[in-house]
Amino acid sequence: MQLIKRGSRGNEVVDIQTRLIKLGFNLGPTGVDGIFGKYTELAVKKFQQDRGLLIDGIVGEDTWRELVEATYRLGDRILYLRSPFLRGDDVKQLQRFLNILGFNAGPVDGIFGSLTEKAVREFQKNVELVSDGIVGPSTLRAFQNFRRILKSNEHADFPVREEEPPTSRGVISIFKGKRVAVDFGHGYPPDPGAVGPSGLRESEVCEDVGERFGNLLDLLGAKVIYTRKKGEFVGLSERANLANDLKVELFISFHISGSTDTKAEGSSTYYFASGNHFSKRGKKLAQVIQEELVSSLGRKDGRIHGKNFLVLRETRMPAVLIEPVYITNPEEEKLLKEDVFRQKIAVAVFDGLKRYFQA
Ligand SMILES: [Zn+2]
Repeated sequence: MQLIKRGSRGNEVVDIQTRLIKLGFNLGPTGVDGIFGKYTELAVKKFQQDRGLLIDGIVGEDTWRELVEATYRLGDRILYLRSPFLRGDDVKQLQRFLNILGFNAGPVDGIFGSLTEKAVREFQKNVELVSDGIVGPSTLRAFQNFRRILKSNEHADFPVREEEPPTSRGVISIFKGKRVAVDFGHGYPPDPGAVGPSGLRESEVCEDVGERFGNLLDLLGAKVIYTRKKGEFVGLSERANLANDLKVELFISFHISGSTDTKAEGSSTYYFASGNHFSKRGKKLAQVIQEELVSSLGRKDGRIHGKNFLVLRETRMPAVLIEPVYITNPEEEKLLKEDVFRQKIAVAVFDGLKRYFQA
């Protein structure tokens, strides 16, 4: 292509200037005037710097392609796997979003390759859409349904464009109106729970993971009852009583394991048992959640166990206590610091509930 640079005029310059403005660059007092002047050149240089291009203030082939890719937003076009791969910032948004939701789209490189396609298919399966790997209107709408989760995540720049409201179908109808208690296992101060080798507190992780899980449920029309606010301390019996009083259908207590043995690792889920007596439905719930945790996190299967824990014993509905990994294991503590991993835990528990309600 012809190089567009200082002194150039015409429609191409208008196009470049419009894209620069859209990307938030300042074109000074002249704005979009179709004349490649001092301000346009400065903006092009800044853009080139931001995108790791040669900084010469000239729009050649590379800079032009990068300008086009940078201005794509999710929803501007249909995304799918083709050759050559589709590239652009809309693909980056998509990848970031899928990763946050726990569907591995690989590195956020803006290239719609096979790993990204696979993640799209997984996502579609999860929300009961046709699993065709094509990001078109119905998949975009499903993404919109998840936008509130992303609002609570400052790293996600998923567009929050309002579209038509979600329809009550598929997975939404499973959760609609269900009353679920989300119990943060620990509240700091005064109860940090277990503490990892680098100082990560169990309380902080179970609040965050529990809230991510609650957001998923809330989004799909369930009624989420938190047994306490973040950072607040409420006793065990009080939390169990609250769930009883509000007649919730399920009680999910979020914990992270701790041990003096730093090699201890893996996922476990607990249900109520004492002597010969155990909660049948609690065990069933623990089983499906445990299966989802193990298959999604890929950590060691610590299995399900019947325990006489207070919150399991004093709650009258099926109740489980989850311990997805060990915070005291350095490798697992490191995973717990990642947003994507936390979201994976939340999605796995959510998938367990989905199976439980569907059964
Ligand atoms: Zn705990």
